[in-house]
Amino acid sequence: MALMITDECINCDVCEPECPNQAIYLGEEIYEIDPGKCTECVGHFDEPQCVQVCPVACIPVNPQHVENQESLWAKYRRLQSQ
Ligand code: SF4
Ligand code: SF4
Repeated sequence: MALMITDECINCDVCEPECPNQAIYLGEEIYEIDPGKCTECVGHFDEPQCVQVCPVACIPVNPQHVENQESLWAKYRRLQSQ
């Protein structure tokens, strides 16, 4: 699954530079995650890096983007080839 950022985000700017896929960006009010680019860090790290650094734990899985490991790896390979 891709992850998502909830409105508990305090715009601390910490997660954005940690994302290996440049999936995190500042939206209109808070940071957001592009589900087309978030692999849950599959291909890069064992744990989602944004979740590791977020001080308010506001990055759950995105129920709108349910994906298994195979899909996440496919997304990783697609992103790498771009
Ligand atoms: S889980 Fe990884 S790929 Fe997804 S947004 Fe967080 S840091 Fe980026
Ligand atoms: S680390 Fe958490 S609180 Fe900080 S900008 Fe990212 S999502 Fe928001």
